Amino acid sequence: MPGPGTLGSVSREGVTPQSEDFSAWYNELVIQAELVDRGPVRGTMVIRPYGYRMWELLQADLDGRIKEAGHGNACFPMFIPESYFKREAEHVEGFSPELAVVTVAGGKELEEPLVVRPTSETVIGEYMAKWIESHRDLPLLLNQWANVVRWELRPRMFLRTTEFLWQEGHTAHADEEDAMRETMWALGAYAGLARELAAIPVVEGEKTPSERFAGAVRTYTIEGMMRDGRALQSGTSHYLGTNFAKVFDITYQDEDGKLVHAHTTSWGLSTRMLGGVIMTHGDDKGLVLPPRIAPYQVVIVPIGRDDAAERTAAAARDLAGELKRAGVRVHVDDRPQLRPGYKFNEWELRGVPVRLEIGPRDLDGGVVTLARRLGDQGKEQIPLDRAAELMPGILDDFQAFLYTRAERFRDEHTADVESWDAFPEQVSQGWARVFHCGRTDCEDAIKADTAATPRVIPTDAPEEHGVCFRCGEPSAYGKRILYGRSY
Ligand SMILES: [Zn+2]
Repeated sequence: MPGPGTLGSVSREGVTPQSEDFSAWYNELVIQAELVDRGPVRGTMVIRPYGYRMWELLQADLDGRIKEAGHGNACFPMFIPESYFKREAEHVEGFSPELAVVTVAGGKELEEPLVVRPTSETVIGEYMAKWIESHRDLPLLLNQWANVVRWELRPRMFLRTTEFLWQEGHTAHADEEDAMRETMWALGAYAGLARELAAIPVVEGEKTPSERFAGAVRTYTIEGMMRDGRALQSGTSHYLGTNFAKVFDITYQDEDGKLVHAHTTSWGLSTRMLGGVIMTHGDDKGLVLPPRIAPYQVVIVPIGRDDAAERTAAAARDLAGELKRAGVRVHVDDRPQLRPGYKFNEWELRGVPVRLEIGPRDLDGGVVTLARRLGDQGKEQIPLDRAAELMPGILDDFQAFLYTRAERFRDEHTADVESWDAFPEQVSQGWARVFHCGRTDCEDAIKADTAATPRVIPTDAPEEHGVCFRCGEPSAYGKRILYGRSY
């Protein structure tokens, strides 16, 4: 039975080496590895089964964390009355250039234009106001899995697409303390997902005011370093204070019977995370997938002609059965018309963590030949009758290896920078840890010169004080912050 992406239409062109042109490598790879195809409308993407399976694996894990912490999944309409949007001034200002608006429907001009949701604070705020009456209704913990639309002028598959998939959490709380606890819970869930599934060693922390979500009091982020040294923000969590509660009238009666505003949060993680996986682990040969989100953790290629082909194919199917029973996602590539070398290249391009080859001589010796997607150990042979028992451990080791490798790469490309002279060079290949004054005009000047922006005020950075590397004013934030170019 064909699983995700087994139709065998991979092109043999290969991809531009990552080291030569990172951007071309990425753009070619997402198509050739059959993760996505270009949509008919500029900036849209078709997520193909191989890419969608990765999303499902991330989604299942995150959904478990969300439910475990007491949130309920809901589904709100994708059309939002334009008037809702206009209520929160900063929110509408931040989003208006990206909004898609429906003005005609049912064959006539609409009385009120409808915004296709770019995010759902406004519509959900309207219903929170309706559903919350007393302190006993709090906290209200909602989440929705949805598609959203933000018109992109410079689209890039997974990273910036006009329509994308995500989850958006929306919660209401009695006070700031409870809402902040929620905001940090969501950030921790995202960081856990990134580290444990995507094997991305993200840095957690707060955004500087200029990088805040439109309408938020505080925005928190997880940032990962891609293999070209750029940062990718792959999940954000916002404490919205009473900004939305005030405009949507989200109030509750406290224990003394007094009517007060709730404090709300929102937090989102999208298909952008898949772009992060590709750019954190991939290499010149193609994708390198962490086993926990690989559609196929193991691909078995039976080798041999004529009678031998039948024998090895049968052994491959038996082994696949055993691996499945051991909880391994496995695929047997027994397409007869293709040479083994072609299949090896294809599964390397598509990032399968482990390949098993079974030839007639392997069978005679009671072994199977194992090749990992990365690592310089070369091929090794393992006993055929122990392969299923050994495989979960082999996959866990590979997952851990990818995380450690990415962490080492990040650390090697991050350095303290004290002066402006050393800054452009550092952010051309990685991140700079700097003291910054916190002034927006200073941030803007740095951005104009180098395209680098403040990525995150790391939660775990030690308290330190100094002078701004750019303007010499006293540093803000009480610690060094991370600066880098970003996606
Ligand atoms: Zn400054």
